Parts: sequence; C-alpha cells; structure tokens
Amino acid sequence: MFTDGQLLLLLLWGIYLCDCLVWHDRYGVVFRSWWGVRWHVAGLEVGAGGMGKSNWEVAGHGMACVNPLECGAQAVVGHVLPVAISPNRVVAGNLQTIYATGRPPQGNRSFSLEELTGMAVREEELWLNGTRFCRFPSAGLARRVLALLRTLQGSPQERREELIRAYWRERFDRQAFRDLWASCTVAARRLQWGCMGLFLLLYVVAPVLALRLGTGWAVLGCGPLGVLAAFAIEWGAFRARRRLGVGTLAEACGEWVKGVLCPPVAIRAADGLTRAAAPLFDPLTLAAELLPEEGRRPSGKSAFFARVAADWHHPLTVEGTWGEAERATLAWQSRLALDEALHAFPELGEELSERVPLRLDPAMNAYCPRCGGQYATEAETCPDCPGVRLEQWREQDKSVPQGGGKPHGGRRRARRGP
Ligand SMILES: [Zn+2]
Repeated sequence: MFTDGQLLLLLLWGIYLCDCLVWHDRYGVVFRSWWGVRWHVAGLEVGAGGMGKSNWEVAGHGMACVNPLECGAQAVVGHVLPVAISPNRVVAGNLQTIYATGRPPQGNRSFSLEELTGMAVREEELWLNGTRFCRFPSAGLARRVLALLRTLQGSPQERREELIRAYWRERFDRQAFRDLWASCTVAARRLQWGCMGLFLLLYVVAPVLALRLGTGWAVLGCGPLGVLAAFAIEWGAFRARRRLGVGTLAEACGEWVKGVLCPPVAIRAADGLTRAAAPLFDPLTLAAELLPEEGRRPSGKSAFFARVAADWHHPLTVEGTWGEAERATLAWQSRLALDEALHAFPELGEELSERVPLRLDPAMNAYCPRCGGQYATEAETCPDCPGVRLEQWREQDKSVPQGGGKPHGGRRRARRGP
C-alpha cells in the first residue's frame, strides 16, 4: 500500500507529533488556552471538591496537547517550588501538593545552611556539597534558588527571613509577570504565522506530495523550504529571547540549533517563547493573571486559589524519612508562602483563608477541611487526604439554606462515609 519512503515519512510525522505534548510532573500545573483567548487549568478538577488529578497521568507525570496536535492550543506550565528554604535549612521537598495523587517522590536530602560548602547548578539540577540535591523545572529557576542560598549563607541569621520573604514576593510579583508575559506574547504573535505556514508545509503539503508523486518529490519540494522557514522562525525566536532576557545565551543558542536541525521543532517556537515567561513565577501568579474571574465556578481563579489555600492550611501527611528539623522547615515555608500570598493577592484574601463548607445533609457529621468532602462517619481522618483530620461543624454552621441556592464557600461534593 505504502512505499518504504512513504512509511518512513509517516513514522517521522508520528514521532514529531510527540513534540506537541507538554509534560509536567506533580509540581507542575498546565494552564491552557485556545488561541490565547480563554485560559483554564488542564487536567485538574478545580472546584469539584476533591483535589483532582491530571487527566493524563503516568507515574506522577501528566501531559497536555498543544498546537498543532490540537490546533491553536497554547500551554504554559507553572511550577511549585521543589525545595523548602527556611532561615536555617534547605530541604529537597515541599509540603505543597497540586494533585490528589500526592507529592512527587521526595528523597531525604537536607542541609543546614551552615553545612553548605559547595553549591552549583548543572543544567536544571542543583548540586549541594558534591551531591545532586534537587531537579528544577528550568535552569533559570535553579540559578535563582542558588543565588538565594548564597545570599542567605552570607547574611546574619536575623536578616534571613526577610531575604526569603523578598524571594517569595518575587514569585508572586504580578506586575513583573504581566510585563514579561505581554512582551513574550507580542513576540510570539509575530512568529505565529510563520509557525502555521511551516506546519502546513510539513504536515499537509509534504504528505500530499509524498502520496501523489512519491517521497522524492516531497523531500525535494518541501525539505529546503522547510529548513529555510525553520531557520527564519528560530532566528526570530532567538532574537526575542535575547531581547526579553529569557534564559541564557547558551539556552537560546541550543533552542535555535534544535529548531534549525529539526524543522518540526520550529513549529513550536511561538509557544516556547510564551512558556519561557513562566518558570520564575508561582502558579498562583499565573492563575491570578491568566484565569478568568468567574466567581467560584470551576475554571475561575477563585476556585484555584481556594484549592491551593486548602492544601496550605491542611497539607497531606509528610511521607519519607524526614526528621523534625526537615518537617519544621517544610511547615515554615508553607506558612510564609501563605502569608506572602495574602499580601500579594489582597482581593483573593477570602479565598486564601480557611473556610467551613456548608453542610449539605444533616446526616453528615464531619467534613474534610482540605478536599471539602462531607461524611457520616466516626473516622478521624479523611479517606481521600492521608493524615488530614476531619472536623465537626460548629453550632452556627449547621443550617442548610432554603431554596437550594448555592452556598458561598460550599463545596459541592457530598458523600456518605463507611
Ligand atoms: Zn479530604
């Protein structure tokens, strides 16, 4: 049916489509949109009560499709900080969990700041005292954390908390993200038409030529044109990266070479530029700027904030072999981050504070403060959230509104326990 050449093209076509998937681990949250019009969080059942999980998840990793696999889809990944830093200690873990399936595997690596002798960043990894300490979503974030650790080590104990707070203010800096995002979007828009043209050439024109006239014509007709187009697109992306100060020179060169040597990669150049704006900022900052205002509707930013806050207030049990000092560091960072988030997003303060879900059924005697599940049970902890204690309603919380109106702050899942 197909000649060998056509089969080879088909295989390459399939392989390169894999490049149109955005992968994230359990520290990552994918914000998606269609033509940048309306953003939502991919794969999270935000607001559905439970801390949902990624729709496509394999061993703690999830994925989302982007252009051209899903035509016009854009994605930006926000990352929770994979380390916890207190004025005394750095721990390769974080109490925060985005997904119901728990945290990514965390080792038992931790150092007190006085113990640190050698610190370095190799690609996306932070190395402390000659051992691989932790992997970051981007080299830029790893370098930023390294700089913070160096500053902390050279500062007196009483100044360290303020320095860590300043770093968290950077993560929550909406104005800085807004400015960088606007510049990246403008630059990406300039590249978008080139990317679409290249997509049509490689994924429509080339297969048609290969089927009608043979692979020789497809390669001769589309190959040189594809390489030229990829060269031009990646040159534009390279200049934009340098102008906007996104990543280092070596990273920009790497992206450029990759795109020129492999033209299908260049189709993603516009998307890569917008994604490069995200790594230094917290997922809350991305949510505040990208997600729509929709009250407590599942796709709105309020629901996302409420969910992150519930996790901060009532974290899952800390797994692994952490000692007291590590646990204290993890908890200290969560409290500090919540405190700074309250300052950075004052209009969402209500979402960030603890709330009591409205009792949906008088038979339910307990609720989970983390996922909002309501239970008729004698159990002490939530069956969905390991280690989170169930709470009882107080006398004044007990009324169920008449008329079945949606209660403010009420979670919508009700379930009978065992
Ligand atoms: Zn729960």
